[in-house]
Amino acid sequence: MPPADADHLTRGAGRYAPSPSGDLHLGNLRTALLAWLFARSTGRRFLLRIDDLDRVRPGAAERQLADLNAIGLDWDGPVVRQSERLPHYDAAIERLAAAGLTYECFCTRREIQQAATAPHGPMGAYPGICRTLSAEARARRRAEGRPAALRLRAVAADFEITDELHGRYRGPVDDVVLRRGDGTPAYNLTVVVDDAEQGIDQVVRGDDLLPSTPRQAYLASLLGLPSPHYAHVPLVLNENGQRLAKRDGAVTLADRLALGNTPEQVVAVLAESLGYAASTPSQLLEHFDPARLPKEPWIMTADGLLQPSGCP
Ligand code: GLU
Repeated sequence: MPPADADHLTRGAGRYAPSPSGDLHLGNLRTALLAWLFARSTGRRFLLRIDDLDRVRPGAAERQLADLNAIGLDWDGPVVRQSERLPHYDAAIERLAAAGLTYECFCTRREIQQAATAPHGPMGAYPGICRTLSAEARARRRAEGRPAALRLRAVAADFEITDELHGRYRGPVDDVVLRRGDGTPAYNLTVVVDDAEQGIDQVVRGDDLLPSTPRQAYLASLLGLPSPHYAHVPLVLNENGQRLAKRDGAVTLADRLALGNTPEQVVAVLAESLGYAASTPSQLLEHFDPARLPKEPWIMTADGLLQPSGCP
């Protein structure tokens, strides 16, 4: 038998990485279940990471973990928290800075919105206002006490990734923020550093993050880190086509339990939305076939069912 360390390196891993901003809703639980199914059905480890550098609600991470556990998901090794990994992000930023791939940006959100998008840049991309600031202009802005964010000096306009559900996907790459003005490392950087350093080679997450993926894969390539396999899965939306939220009724596990449902019944609803009859993740795993996954979002109806969009 190979030593545990070798197993660690060769088996690869999937993960679920919630932001502890509140309770997980059915859409989040469904994505977590899918990430677990993808990992377990391919013999990978399954890791849990709490992306707690932003949007932290006290107690939310603990409730999220308890809910994942209650629906029968398990994970390998200790839960990793981004707040404990700051030196790793600093090191990555230093490497990019040493390669001349960063610059300070003093723009406020309003200034960015008001500036026209760069003539040949992608929609919504940072228009490059601070990219060419002279040393004097930079010193002046610093002296004004403006907090500087650190941006990537991107040398590509777009980047292609391959996604299990979406195939080849090419998307814009711009001067993403690496460190925010308040000193916090930015999500697009931390996710790349963590996934690579944790040995995660399979990223399954909501397809709202698909447009950010070329940026992340590009950043990984600049840092000499491998890019994971991606599967961006459809979200659960409400009947108006918006992301699920509290106002949509019984959306969390706690809500469902309060209505008298058991965790198994909640898993059965999630499983049914994936086209399976099962009331535990392990039962689902026996039949799970990623090729059968629909690409359209799922709708939670007013009576709390999940059904494919397009259903009458
Ligand atoms: N923490 C991020 C979120 O909950 C997701 C990160 C990821 O899966 O890459 O939106």
